[in-house]
Amino acid sequence: MPEGAAEYILRTLPGAADDVDSRNALSEDLLRGLEGAGAFRALGLGVEEIYGLVRMASKWSPAVAHVIATSASVSLGVGVEGGIYSLCVTEPGGGSDIRGNLRTVAEEVGGEARVTGEKAFASNGIYATHFLVLANGPQGPTLYMVGRGPGVRAEPLDLYTFRGSGVSRVVFEGARGRRIGEPGRGIREALEAINYERLGYGYIGLGIMEGLMEEVGPRLSRRIFGTELGDYQGVRWMLAELEVRARLLESLVGAAASRAAREGRVDPLDAAVAKVAGAELAQRAAWIAVQLMGGSGFSRGTRVDRLARDSRMLDVGAGAREVIYDYLGERAVRRYRGSGAPGGIRTRDPPLTRRAH
Ligand SMILES: Cc1cc2nc3c(=O)[nH]c(=O)nc-3n(C[C@H](O)[C@H](O)[C@H](O)COP(=O)(O)OP(=O)(O)OC[C@H]3O[C@@H](n4cnc5c(N)ncnc54)[C@H](O)[C@@H]3O)c2cc1C
Repeated sequence: MPEGAAEYILRTLPGAADDVDSRNALSEDLLRGLEGAGAFRALGLGVEEIYGLVRMASKWSPAVAHVIATSASVSLGVGVEGGIYSLCVTEPGGGSDIRGNLRTVAEEVGGEARVTGEKAFASNGIYATHFLVLANGPQGPTLYMVGRGPGVRAEPLDLYTFRGSGVSRVVFEGARGRRIGEPGRGIREALEAINYERLGYGYIGLGIMEGLMEEVGPRLSRRIFGTELGDYQGVRWMLAELEVRARLLESLVGAAASRAAREGRVDPLDAAVAKVAGAELAQRAAWIAVQLMGGSGFSRGTRVDRLARDSRMLDVGAGAREVIYDYLGERAVRRYRGSGAPGGIRTRDPPLTRRAH
């Protein structure tokens, strides 16, 4: 039987994660290995299995997990498979106000489109075989699928976080593509993919926390003032706090993924909460891990270093924390305002109309 994606990740990532981080790229072997093991076949694997891989990979390399998750978001979000995908929404003018900053344009001629513009921070930009691009088409913001080829240029960015996840500036100069969504509905449709990405951040947060705690584990037996570190109440309470957060997040993302598998889309509320909770868990775990490791928690090139740097990004990528809070806050206000009405508090609101997020 060929090796599955989970076995491949477990076998290779512990040894490869540091190389991915220091080279800011996956080796060709690793990329082809993941592909051969089926890590980019999200539709075939299904939502729950693909996010199981994302969580597992995040324990060692959130960057590799992100490569898988980004491609899966496009696959699951718009129903395509058969390549490695990049989602190109953010532009140099800014990512929060997607509509206000959309300058990329698409001309439609017959059944084909020509896309021209520049995208910023496109994960998987250097690996993608296909780019899902939000562009202004004849009837407004619309999604186009552009194949890697003439007129497409991806330049990797040298970030200190998620190194190796292929985050790139991608320039399209009359690149050939095809319209994939409904004319004028591109922002809504892009959000279907972004919601999968946000759910993925919940799983990445869990994986980061688990990876960090594997590093902290041996330190808990270290004797300090004659007592093992793990026997101090203050330390136990730190770990108890993480336990509560992690178990809550695990049940949230598990329920969200099975609902998504049943319904064919991620509930936006699930996605938003998973992303915030994933970021909080990972960042709190990073703080605790560095604290319990003491001075050695600051060593460069270690797993703790990598996971701590990566934890910070979860509050910016796939929508900044404040944008997510705007969305959650608006829903909450609508819900509580209506809570005195017959029928009481609604737990699931109708879709928003005012803003895309
Ligand atoms: C590692 C990484 C990977 C990424 N991958 C992708 C990708 O694959 N595809 C893609 O299209 N984009 C991607 N992005 C871009 C990401 O979606 C944007 O960075 C994000 O949406 C924020 O946009 P911005 O960076 O332009 O910041 P801006 O929009 O300029 O916002 C800056 C800051 O302003 C604050 N802010 C924004 N709105 C509000 C508000 N309403 N209220 C209060 N404060 C606010 C927030 O703190 C925000 O961080 C990625 C980014 C990173 C860092």
